[in-house]
Amino acid sequence: PVWVLRLGHRPGRDERMSTHVGLTARALGADRVIFAGSADGPRETVTDITERFGGPFDVEVRESYRPLLGGWDGRIVHLTMYGLPIEDCAPAIRTAHRSEPLLVVVGAEKVAGEVYDAADWNVGVTNQPHSEVASLAVFLDRLFEGRELDREWEEADRTVIPQERGKRVVKSDEPSTGERTERSE
Ligand code: SAM
Repeated sequence: PVWVLRLGHRPGRDERMSTHVGLTARALGADRVIFAGSADGPRETVTDITERFGGPFDVEVRESYRPLLGGWDGRIVHLTMYGLPIEDCAPAIRTAHRSEPLLVVVGAEKVAGEVYDAADWNVGVTNQPHSEVASLAVFLDRLFEGRELDREWEEADRTVIPQERGKRVVKSDEPSTGERTERSE
């Protein structure tokens, strides 16, 4: 499995970014997101999306990330602009992932030195400052080599049917009509 640990959630300020870390983790093939800190809003939103659009995907909030980081029985990747190029690290990470669970850590503000020490790989998606959402997306795509884009979703209440234009959503709880088009964000 691949779990994503989102560090340093600041209530109020980070609601959307933490939510987007969770949604990106879910959409692009991770199995679980763990928010460290008071992240009830992001937890509820990501759980709600999973209930509507399917899973499996787990969402958790933990007060402290240290027990998880210290006790992780697998390999740890920390995404940071100061790390080694993803182009160089990805092959070894893919090999490790075949036999071991992977914990992918992304930060918010300043990330503590202990995280750099705990990581098996400190990985830069370029060495330019950008975003935890962007770096997570590129990392997961490199990890799964594109296969994450074509996954089946289980227990989805609704499924988007790709359209050249417009929006079409099939709702599984409306068997009589089968499908309907609705406006959604
Ligand atoms: N300056 C902060 C620090 O010292 O760690 C980073 C803040 S950045 C807005 C938030 C998070 O985005 C980082 O913790 C990291 O996980 C991710 N990030 C930003 N740029 C990145 C890059 N080039 N490669 C990998 N991850 C990156």
